[in-house]
Amino acid sequence: MIAHFATERLQEVYARVKAFLEAEVYPNELRWLHMPFREVESELRLLRTKAAATGAWNAYLSAHHGGPGFSLVEVAQLGELMGTSPFGHFLFNCQAPDAGNIELLLQHGTPAQKAQFLEPLLKGDTRSCFSMTEPEYAGSNPVKMGTTAVREGDYYVIDGHKWFTSSADGAAFAIVMAITNPGETNPYRRASMILAPTDTPGFQLVRNIPVMGHAGEGWHSHGEIRYEKVRVPAGYLLGAEGDGFRLAQERLGPGRIHHCMRWIGVSERAFDLMCRRAAGREISDGVMLGEKQMVQDFIAENRAAINAARLMVLHTAMHIQEKGQKSASLDISTIKFFVANVLQRVIDCAVQVHGALGVTDDTLLAYYYREERGARIYDGPDEAHKASLARHILKSYGLEVKNN
Ligand SMILES: Cc1cc2nc3c(=O)[nH]c(=O)nc-3n(C[C@H](O)[C@H](O)[C@H](O)COP(=O)(O)OP(=O)(O)OC[C@H]3O[C@@H](n4cnc5c(N)ncnc54)[C@H](O)[C@@H]3O)c2cc1C
Repeated sequence: MIAHFATERLQEVYARVKAFLEAEVYPNELRWLHMPFREVESELRLLRTKAAATGAWNAYLSAHHGGPGFSLVEVAQLGELMGTSPFGHFLFNCQAPDAGNIELLLQHGTPAQKAQFLEPLLKGDTRSCFSMTEPEYAGSNPVKMGTTAVREGDYYVIDGHKWFTSSADGAAFAIVMAITNPGETNPYRRASMILAPTDTPGFQLVRNIPVMGHAGEGWHSHGEIRYEKVRVPAGYLLGAEGDGFRLAQERLGPGRIHHCMRWIGVSERAFDLMCRRAAGREISDGVMLGEKQMVQDFIAENRAAINAARLMVLHTAMHIQEKGQKSASLDISTIKFFVANVLQRVIDCAVQVHGALGVTDDTLLAYYYREERGARIYDGPDEAHKASLARHILKSYGLEVKNN
């Protein structure tokens, strides 16, 4: 936490969350990572009562919606702290993809949708998933999509093939992006978001996709899904027909602040492990690893990079707070690729300093190395964000880049 951004109310909750993580979470993480997630989940659910007592339950929710009412800058700093453990966000019901889905339902859900889908999510009784990407089409250009939802009387019938629907295993429902208006001339008005309970006939979780050898399960997994004539009431449409991309865009802005600050938490944890190892590992008689200048370079460069990343994200959060998401869109693109690369570099250096131990499952690092690589791909790959930033900069130099 940076003193300048630390409000009094944040400091109090921050101290309680930190104490909770130190007492209840850090000592158990490696054991949990070696267990099937379903077994871990029952332990985590018991701990959630203690987590909630810190005052950070649903930390990102406004007071108006029954949350603690923190500003985005305050939430960001709590998000970093929770991000220092792979289980932090889950314990406080702040985990992706539920947090984003909760924000969508709060803003666009009908009273009936809120009662059925949102309320249990807010209490942490259910989980959800977000189903947009398809194996057959480039996810970085999602206007091309094969999944359709056809209106038949009072129902939509969904057909399609999705993958990387994170946390689909055990989720109560998916928010599905599907083409409802194929004839629209504007391709960004062709898709809609529809709520699909996972127990609807035709919803098939084909598999949890192995990521670098680990398929995971439950919240901690990425599902491949077939939608085969999934028939849901027309009242499960979120927003209006054709609103899918507009709603998706809204979901991504604050969502990227949440992701980036979690990544900074991960970076801090990997950095801490690296420094402990550098200080404690004897490399030759009486000489510790941290006395080697190349290791000092890792430490200095990564310290500077994490500090810079944090300030960039907090600055972007302030920008969103003060001027809105649209005004901050370039800042949002910039932090997305910058912080994801800082994260990857810190984890890689920490693995390197640990030597063979770094690639085993005896520390958190191998888990991070595997699970956090996706940060440079999801929510827009690096290249897409860099292209949009560079295009904007070049425009001010008189060059209109027409095709990225
Ligand atoms: C861990 C993880 C979790 C995910 N969770 C979800 C989820 O919950 N729900 C969901 O719907 N999806 C999810 N996704 C999918 C994610 O949104 C897509 O992977 C992403 O949009 C990229 O699409 P793609 O994989 O089809 O890659 P493609 O679109 O095929 O792109 C491949 C590569 O092309 C390059 N590229 C793309 N655009 C450009 C450009 N403009 N200029 C230059 N190069 C470019 C990039 O290097 C990119 O990685 C997840 C992905 C991962 C890895």
